[in-house]
Amino acid sequence: MAQWFAAKERAGSALVFFRMGDFYELFFDDAEAASDALGLALTHRGEHQGVPIPMCGVPHHACEAYLARLIRRGFRVAICEQTETPEQAKARKAATLRREVVRVITPGTATEEALLDAARPAWLLALAEGGAAWLDVSTGAFHTASGEDPASLVARLRPAEILAADGRDDATPAVVPKDPARRVAEAFGVATLDGFGQFTPAELAAAAMALDYVRAMGNGQLPRLSPPLAEGGRGVMLLDAATRRSLEILESPQDGPTLLAALDRTLTGPGARELAARLAAPLDDLAAIRARHDHVALLLTERERCDAIRAALKGAPDMARALARLSLDRFAPRDLGALRDGLARAASLTQAARGSILPAPVPLPELAAELARALAEELPARLEDGGTVGAGYDGQLDALRRLRDDARGAIAAMQMELAQGWGVAALKIRHHQQLGFLAEVPAAAGEKLLRAAPPGLAEEMRPIHRQSMANAHRFTCAALATLDRRLSEAGEEAQRREKTVVQHLRRLVLEAGEAVAAAARVTAELDVLAAAAELAREGQWCRPEMTERPDFTVVAGRHPVVEKALREARGPAFVPNGSDLSPGRRLTLLTGPNMAGKSTFLRQNALFAVMAQAGLFLPAEAARIGLVDRLFSRVGAADDLAGGRSTFMVEMSETAAILNLAGPRSLVVLDEVGRGTATWDGLAIATAVLEALHDRIRCRTLFATHFHELTVLAHRLPELRLARMEVREWRGEVVFRHSVGEGAAEKSWGIHVAKLAGVPAPVLRRAAEVLAALEARAAAGEDPLAAELPLFAPPPRLPSAHPALEALRALDPDSLSPREAQEALYHLRGLA
Ligand code: ADP
Repeated sequence: MAQWFAAKERAGSALVFFRMGDFYELFFDDAEAASDALGLALTHRGEHQGVPIPMCGVPHHACEAYLARLIRRGFRVAICEQTETPEQAKARKAATLRREVVRVITPGTATEEALLDAARPAWLLALAEGGAAWLDVSTGAFHTASGEDPASLVARLRPAEILAADGRDDATPAVVPKDPARRVAEAFGVATLDGFGQFTPAELAAAAMALDYVRAMGNGQLPRLSPPLAEGGRGVMLLDAATRRSLEILESPQDGPTLLAALDRTLTGPGARELAARLAAPLDDLAAIRARHDHVALLLTERERCDAIRAALKGAPDMARALARLSLDRFAPRDLGALRDGLARAASLTQAARGSILPAPVPLPELAAELARALAEELPARLEDGGTVGAGYDGQLDALRRLRDDARGAIAAMQMELAQGWGVAALKIRHHQQLGFLAEVPAAAGEKLLRAAPPGLAEEMRPIHRQSMANAHRFTCAALATLDRRLSEAGEEAQRREKTVVQHLRRLVLEAGEAVAAAARVTAELDVLAAAAELAREGQWCRPEMTERPDFTVVAGRHPVVEKALREARGPAFVPNGSDLSPGRRLTLLTGPNMAGKSTFLRQNALFAVMAQAGLFLPAEAARIGLVDRLFSRVGAADDLAGGRSTFMVEMSETAAILNLAGPRSLVVLDEVGRGTATWDGLAIATAVLEALHDRIRCRTLFATHFHELTVLAHRLPELRLARMEVREWRGEVVFRHSVGEGAAEKSWGIHVAKLAGVPAPVLRRAAEVLAALEARAAAGEDPLAAELPLFAPPPRLPSAHPALEALRALDPDSLSPREAQEALYHLRGLA
């Protein structure tokens, strides 16, 4: 228990996985938390201060699955291992084995495949005052930035773990580290960071904090990391957290459809991560965006090249993560295999990209050949299982293995010899975990041997009894014991030698670490480019023309996510819609009833800016898009129930952010500003916001509203255009055409939509009356809302007294059989 308390002290709030033989045991509160989270049986063991100690455990060979569940549930886990063998403990006359916390596993420092999501980076984000740093231990990627609001960074990166210097959590460094520049430089083995770019003090503080944390969790170890990349807040389109939520780029509530899912045709985990990263941070740099479009265009025209690249990518392993595990010495044989296979794939990609403008991995032929020569074709699950290094690579290892195998043959020979010598044909030599090789004979023959050794037997062959069982006895003899020792020695020696060879391979890989990481990056990049071409080919997408001017013209655009959903549901075809927010007509005011497709249209245009600047083609006939520096999208419910703010408060603070931050190169997409308050208030606010966007900010704007009164602004604001969702009335029903036309919606269709939604008929009738009265007043030039009538006047008596009407109302058509329906008709007919 003293050992456990020491480990717990070191682990802080992390659960302690306390190694005892083949199990990791948990005690006290840890046991209760884990048994709850994992559904493990809670038992008790011993007492502490007179109270039984709660305990539960997981088998160590199956611990990854349990760890994965705990980490996903937000726990951190300290691994406390036995750090000596029983022999070593005996030698120093200790009653218990030494145990130490060798590592703390947290969501942002895990490297095991089972604890990671292949298609998602595992960012550890460190926030300092005015700067941030984030790194992915599982791939070695490392970035810093300043000036970006923490909430926006969190929304962009979706970090696995966040560090902030508040000093409250026991595992978080309580103070910002001293001399961060030196500490960061040290981590990269350089004297100064100048060669890596410019970093602000806050970025360095955050970077040092992240490095310290990783080191602390890994018992002083740091993984291989790429040099930090300072983003400087430039070069990317800025999207705030509300915009990301509204556009459902990488995530949507209740795991609903996302842009990423609709666009992802990548073939590898690293490719999927790269695509997500590009969509999360679209570029704001014309040359870089055009280069990506050039690559996609090339792959679109050169079909064969594209196919060759995709063939080389299919099933390609995750080199970046394998490399990270190697660098931390937490790897399995398959990680070496991943590098061998990944480098071979990279070579095929280089070949496939030859003679084109496409990026291509720089080949590493020597390393690839060395790994291919060294590693066995089929790799074992664990290093200790043996067989990682193939035959013919290392002479010494081959010799030791031959010795071990000879000894195995000798066991088979000895079995025959003993069977003959002891006169027991059924004798079998078996291996026993603790006792080594033993000769097992059936009970009756065993009794005989126990009474007397067969006569004339050589001394070294005489049976020595070791174990009795229900129907068998187990013996050894001096010769068998010698053989056993030789065998286990040869096995151990072969294992030691194999370890040495594997460490040599690991060093070779790490020496080429930067080049391997670069090859992995380019492989992922090619995956994204070829996937983008594939997508464009399938759906006949167009290359957007990118301009410096604030253009925004789309011809026949389709919302990629809604279109896909309609196709999958075999619903009606998506109706393409164009838009034009170019200089001279920067603002569009969109009216139309609910359900007519307003938000789909708004989001579609915002997504086009994201996709185009991420380097993708667009589902449209043509598009010209001027660089967007900031994108604001406010479409959909703006509830912040958890945040405790009212809908209106959220709406207004998000509108405030737009008015304060948007500029002439921004794109603003707004849905129903002012809906959360009283009509006149809302109308007044919406008007003022539109005017500000038009006169002062002068950004491209799509503004949807249900305030028809706003449409008169078109007379006053020269750059404002009116658009409406086309709707038809057909036999008293509303039909949505989902197409965007010019002009303002003629009337409100609220009551029709209410009917579609199943609002009961009497309520609909009453609403129609009130509406008619209001419209009559407006037509007479009165303020419809000035007087009380008709809102609070009692409804006029409806001519409902007619018995036929009463009978009609009493009918429930859904519950009638055809026969009963016909009868009901006759009955009604009779009443009339
Ligand atoms: P609104 O914002 O006006 O209430 P939505 O944009 O939410 O309406 O659209 C309602 C539904 O109409 C969508 O779920 C979609 O199924 C369908 N829809 C929208 N736009 C289109 C379109 N262009 N083509 C076909 N169906 C569409």
